[in-house]
Amino acid sequence: MKLGLISHKAFEELHIPEATRPWMEAFENPNRIKLTREYLHNSGLLENPNLKSFDCKPATREDITRVHNPYLFDVVNELSSLGSGEVGSSSFVVKDTFKAACLSAGGAISAVEEVNKNSIETAFALIRPPGHHAGIGHSEGMCYFNNCAIAVRWLQEKKKVRRILILDLDAHACDGTSQIFYTDPTVFCLSFHEYGMEAIERGWLEEIGSGEGEGYNINVPLPYGTWGNAYRWAFEQIFPDILRDFKPEMLIVSFGFDTHYSDPVGNMNLQAEDYAQLTRIILQLGKEVCGGKITFILEGGYSLLALPLSIGTVISTILDTEIKYFDKIPEPEKIPKIVKDVTEEIQNIKKQYL
Ligand SMILES: [Zn+2]
Repeated sequence: MKLGLISHKAFEELHIPEATRPWMEAFENPNRIKLTREYLHNSGLLENPNLKSFDCKPATREDITRVHNPYLFDVVNELSSLGSGEVGSSSFVVKDTFKAACLSAGGAISAVEEVNKNSIETAFALIRPPGHHAGIGHSEGMCYFNNCAIAVRWLQEKKKVRRILILDLDAHACDGTSQIFYTDPTVFCLSFHEYGMEAIERGWLEEIGSGEGEGYNINVPLPYGTWGNAYRWAFEQIFPDILRDFKPEMLIVSFGFDTHYSDPVGNMNLQAEDYAQLTRIILQLGKEVCGGKITFILEGGYSLLALPLSIGTVISTILDTEIKYFDKIPEPEKIPKIVKDVTEEIQNIKKQYL
């Protein structure tokens, strides 16, 4: 089976945070999954014979506290049963937040589990809430538990998989994921994102890991408004070398689609075709380096028009089928100089630490 799609109907119902502004839906809401599933169905992808759907199971306390402080697990649980509270910046707890967060983390575990036992070649975890801002003892930025990190520690402890590379392609830095693995040389964190987004003052070039983990955390901060051509260029300069040098046993892609030009939260200018091209490179290199063991985990992406199309594009690329893009806009020809500067700095870091 080519692709496993790991999700659950409950994501369309659980955890409906209040909007931070009147008349608006909260950015991270059940429609993200509902509309994506509808799009996958309407475009025929969900019924593709090479796609198998799996239902998530909730992660357990043991799974979650392999990564997080037990206090965080308990406080999300307790506030959720009370029906309201705040557990971190932009992380509001409402009824069933805990249920959704456990199910989301469980979805990430199921995805890596199926890939690891070769029941499928590639997995896509269509889950919410996202996870990559959640650190060891804190929730943040609409993330409660770090789904990707929980899946990594599960793989390491239960399946003795040692070396894992996390490629984070959300518009925001994976500051929670980086914090969790900052001193750990067995997990490489590579993050492409916008320069310091408001309230997230992390993700800079200088953050390269520490202690034994030094050199195993690489940030590629890109300017506001970066177009797909510049983004892909920076990506191709950096990702293949790091993947080939590190040689992980599994590649996990924390994929956020708030880099799309129509996203209300991010400020980048990618479009669906860029996600197809990035996915092609990831699949080809993942095959070469780690026997095709690749797991995609959904992070952000808040445009309810762009998110279904963007995910559909990744899935159709994995399945090697065509879908129609309706978001095509012309992009400028020149690659901004600033991206070259960033890339030169990254090459220097690689020379020094890898
Ligand atoms: Zn994001």
